[in-house]
Amino acid sequence: MTKYIFITGGVVSSLGKGISGASIGKLLQLHGFKVNMIKFDPYINVDPGTMNPYQHGEVFVTKDGIEADLDLGTYERFLNICTSKANTNTSGDIYKTVITKERKGCYNGETVQVIPHITDEIKKRFMVFKNDYDISIIEIGGTVGDIEGLPFMEAVRQFQLENNKKDIFSIHVTLMPYIKGAHELKTKPTQHSVNKLREIGVLPDMIMCRTEYSINISLKQKISLFCNVSVENVIEILDVPLIYYIPKALYNQKVDFLIMKSLNIKSKKRINISCPWFKKVKTYNKFNKIVKIAIVGKYAGLRDAYKSIDESLKIAATELKVKAEIYYFSSEDKSLLKNIEKCNAVLVPGGFGNRGIDGKIKAIQCAREKKIPFLGICLGMQCMVIEVSRNLAKLTDANSTEFDNTTKYPVIKILDKQKNIKYKGGTMRLGSYKSQIKKNTLAYSIYKSTEIEERHRHRYEINPKFIDILEKSGLFITAYCNGVLPEIAEMKNHPFFIGVQFHPEFNSSFIRVHPIFKRLIMAALKIGI
Ligand code: GLN
Repeated sequence: MTKYIFITGGVVSSLGKGISGASIGKLLQLHGFKVNMIKFDPYINVDPGTMNPYQHGEVFVTKDGIEADLDLGTYERFLNICTSKANTNTSGDIYKTVITKERKGCYNGETVQVIPHITDEIKKRFMVFKNDYDISIIEIGGTVGDIEGLPFMEAVRQFQLENNKKDIFSIHVTLMPYIKGAHELKTKPTQHSVNKLREIGVLPDMIMCRTEYSINISLKQKISLFCNVSVENVIEILDVPLIYYIPKALYNQKVDFLIMKSLNIKSKKRINISCPWFKKVKTYNKFNKIVKIAIVGKYAGLRDAYKSIDESLKIAATELKVKAEIYYFSSEDKSLLKNIEKCNAVLVPGGFGNRGIDGKIKAIQCAREKKIPFLGICLGMQCMVIEVSRNLAKLTDANSTEFDNTTKYPVIKILDKQKNIKYKGGTMRLGSYKSQIKKNTLAYSIYKSTEIEERHRHRYEINPKFIDILEKSGLFITAYCNGVLPEIAEMKNHPFFIGVQFHPEFNSSFIRVHPIFKRLIMAALKIGI
C-alpha cells in the first residue's frame, strides 16, 4: 500500500519545499522504503522549457525527454532515482489533457469543470506510482493563497477524504521572519498561512518553519496552538550552508519517526548518523585543497541557471577530496580573460541565442592556447567548434546558423529533423540517446566504454560537411549517435579539451559521480596527465 506525503508552502515562495521533501525522502529511503517524488507546478506553461532562466532557473531534462522543473534534479541527486514524465506536472499540461479528452468526446456530454474534472486528473496523477513505491512525496509548487494553486489544494482535500487518514501525511512549509528591531521571530505569517490552508479544507499534520534563528519551545507551543498540530510536529529548518545538511537536521528532530508513526509504518533498517550518506555529507566540498573552476555563461548572476553543473562539479570534487570553488563569469565581462586565467579549469555550459557568444569563443580560445582544461557542454561544445574553425581552420566568420543564417561556413547547423518544426515547446532533440565512442580517445578514457547514454536538449549539431577540416585542424569527433550525429569533439596535444553535445550534468547524483566532471577536475589538478 503506497503512503502519500503532501508538501505545500506558505508565506513566500523559494522556501526550499523541494529540498525539504527530498530530505524527508532521503531519511525514509535510509529506513529501507522505496520512495518517489512528484512535482505539481500551478503555472499555465505546459512545461518550463520555453521559460527564461530568470523566471525559472535551470530547465532539468528527464531521461524520457521531458523539460522539467529544477526540483527534479534535486530529487534525482538526493534519492538517486530516475525521474520521468510521471514526476512532473503543470496546470498547463493537466488542462491540456482534460481539454483533449473533451474534444474527443470522452465526457459524454457533461459540462467539463475544475471540480471534478481537473481535480480528478490531478488525483489520478497523485497515484501514478501506486503500488510501485512504498511512499510518494508530492510537492505542490507555489504558495497557499495563489489563485492558480487552488485546484491542487482542492485535489489534496478530496484525496484526504477519499483515502485512509493513516495513508496520508500533510506538511506545510512556511517562513518565520525575524524582525531585527524587536529581536523577535514572528509566527503570525505562519498562522495566516495555515488558516488559508484550513479554509480550503487541508489540515496540516506538520509545520516546517524556515528560520534564521532557532525556534524556542514557547514559539513552538504558540504555532502548535494556533495551527492545530502537536508541539513535536513543529519543526525548524534553520538556514544551512549546504542543502545536504537538511536530512540530518530533520533526523535530529525525529521527523522520520514522527512521519512513520503517523503513517503507521515501521522502519525496515536501523539508521544512525554514521551511515554512509551522513558520512559523505560531512566531507561534501569541505577539503582544504582548492580547485578553481570558471563557468562562462550568459546568466552569471543567477546560480540556479546552472544548478546541476554546480552540483556535479562539487560532487566530483568531494570524491577527489578537494573543494571546488566555482566562479561564474559573464561572457560579456570585460575582464573575462584575466579572470579565467586565474582558474584551474574552464567550463562553458549550454544556452540559447546570440548574446555573449563572442566572449564564450574568446574564453575557449584562451583555454586552448593557455592549455587550461576545458569542458564545453552543448552550446559550449558548439562554441568550441566555432572557435577552432575560425582560429585554426581559418574559416573566417564560421558560425552556427542559430546566430548567423547567412554565414559562409555554417559549422553548426540545424538538425534535419528540426527544420520544419513550428512550435517551440517540447520540440527539441530531448532526452536520452545512446552514442558510440571511438577507442583510444579522451572520451573513451573518461567513460571506459564504447557505448554511453546521455540526455540531450538542442536543435543544432556539428555540420558533418566540416568534420574533415576540423579533424585536420586537430579537433576530432570521437563519438557519434548511430554513426551520424556528432556527439563528442576533443583535441589532442592539450591536457583536457573536450566538448559534448549532451548534458552530462543531468546524470550525476550525490552518490553517482559523473566521470566527465571528475576527469575535468583531475585535469585541473594535473592528476593523470
Ligand atoms: N542553442 C543550441 C541548440 O539548440 C544549444 C542548446 C543547449 O546548449 N542546450 O542546439
